[in-house]
Amino acid sequence: MNDEQRQLRDAARKLAQGEFRARAARWDREELFPEENKHRLAELGYLGLSMDREYGGSGAGLVDTYLVIEELAKVDLLTAMIVHDQNVSPRIIANHGSIEMKRRLLPRFVSGELECSIAWTEPQAGSDGTAIRTSAVRDGDEVVINGSKIFTTFGDRADMHLVYARFGKSSGARGIGTVIVECDRPGFTVKKLEGKMGVRGAAENELFFDNVRVPAANIVTAGDPANSAGFVRPLTLYNGTRVGMGVMALGVAEGAFDLAREYMTVREQFGQKLAEMQGLRRMMADALIEIESARCLCYKALALIDAGRPDPALCSIAKVFATEMAQRVTVQCQQMFGGYGYFGSLPLERMVRDVRMLTLTGGTTQTQKNNIANHIFDIQSSRSPS
Ligand SMILES: Cc1cc2nc3c(=O)[nH]c(=O)nc-3n(C[C@H](O)[C@H](O)[C@H](O)COP(=O)(O)OP(=O)(O)OC[C@H]3O[C@@H](n4cnc5c(N)ncnc54)[C@H](O)[C@@H]3O)c2cc1C
Repeated sequence: MNDEQRQLRDAARKLAQGEFRARAARWDREELFPEENKHRLAELGYLGLSMDREYGGSGAGLVDTYLVIEELAKVDLLTAMIVHDQNVSPRIIANHGSIEMKRRLLPRFVSGELECSIAWTEPQAGSDGTAIRTSAVRDGDEVVINGSKIFTTFGDRADMHLVYARFGKSSGARGIGTVIVECDRPGFTVKKLEGKMGVRGAAENELFFDNVRVPAANIVTAGDPANSAGFVRPLTLYNGTRVGMGVMALGVAEGAFDLAREYMTVREQFGQKLAEMQGLRRMMADALIEIESARCLCYKALALIDAGRPDPALCSIAKVFATEMAQRVTVQCQQMFGGYGYFGSLPLERMVRDVRMLTLTGGTTQTQKNNIANHIFDIQSSRSPS
C-alpha cells in the first residue's frame, strides 16, 4: 500500500468508525435504507471512486476503491454495498454504453442522484444465467421488454435497471444483451421480497415488464441471435464485482474479529481473561490466518485487474475463499461472546446474518468452484457465467 492508499483507507476508516458504526443496527432493526449514509458518501466522492474523471469520478483503480469498501464493511455491510453497487452498473455503462448515454447518466451516478440495479436473475435462471427468458424486441426506434426478474437488489428504489434480455429467438448466451429500463416506464412494476435474513436495509425485488417500451438508445450491449457478444462483453466487469464480494466479506470478518479481540481482553471467567485462555487464543490465531489469506487473494486479484491482466480463476478463488472464510470467522467471533453474542443488542448477531448473502450473490460458491475446475481442466464454459 502506498501513502495515498493509506490516507484513503484511513479516511474511510474514520468515517466508518466515527459515523456509520453507531447507526448500523438501526437500518437492520427498522429495515431502512441509510439515506444519510448515502448522502455522506456522495458528498465525499465515494460513489464515483472508480469512475473516470471526465464524468466526475476519481478515476481510482479497484484496489483503491475496495480499500474504502472494506473499511465500510467492517461496521456495516449495507453501507459498503451502496458504494459497491454504485460502482457496478455505472461501470458497465462506462465501458459499453454510447457516448450520449455516458454523458447523460454517469455524472448523475457519481453525485448519487441516480441509482441503477442489476436485473439479471429470473426464477428459472439463477446459477444458469443464460437461461433467461425476458425478451427485448426491436420496434422501430424502440425496444419492447416482456418478462420478469427476481432478487433485484435495490430494485424498489433504483431509478433504472440494467436488464439482461433476449433479443430475438435464441438459446444459451447467444442473443442476450443488456438494456436500461427506467422505473417510470408504463408497464413496469416492482414487488419487494419479504422475510430477508440479513442486510435488511436493502430490499431484493421482483421486477415485472409488461410490454415496456424504451428508446433503442437505451441499449447498452445489443443482443444478436448469431453470437453471444452482447452477453459476454459486460461479463468481464464481473471479475471485479466477484472479488468485491470477497472484500466485503473480508471487511465483515475483520469487524467481527476486532470486536471479539476487544471483548476477550475484558471478559473474565475462572479468574482469567478470555484472551489468556489457550483454546480461545488459538481460535483467534486461526481466524487471523484466514483473514490475512483472504486479504492476499482479494487484493492480488484486484491488482491484476487494475494492471489490465485480469485472472478470472483467481477472482473466483478469492470470492470463494473470502466469503466462506467470513462465514466461519464471524461465527467463531460470535462464540467469544458466549450467550451475549446471540442477541441483537450486539453487532455480532447482525454480522453473522449479513455475511451469509455473499456466498450466494455474484455467483454461488458452487458455481465459482465450477469456474475454477474449468480453469484447471482448461474448459471454456458457456453455461455458468455467474
Ligand atoms: C441477497 C441477494 C441479492 C441478490 N442480488 C441480485 C441482484 O441484484 N441482481 C440479480 O440479477 N440477482 C441477484 N441475486 C440472485 C443471485 O445471483 C442468485 O441467487 C444466484 O445466482 C443463485 O441462483 P438461485 O438462487 O436461483 O439458485 P440456483 O441456481 O437454483 O442454485 C441452487 C443451489 O444449487 C447450486 N448449483 C446450481 N447450479 C450448480 C452447478 N452447475 N454445479 C454445482 N452447484 C450448482 C447453487 O450453488 C445453489 O447452492 C441476489 C441473491 C441474493 C440472495
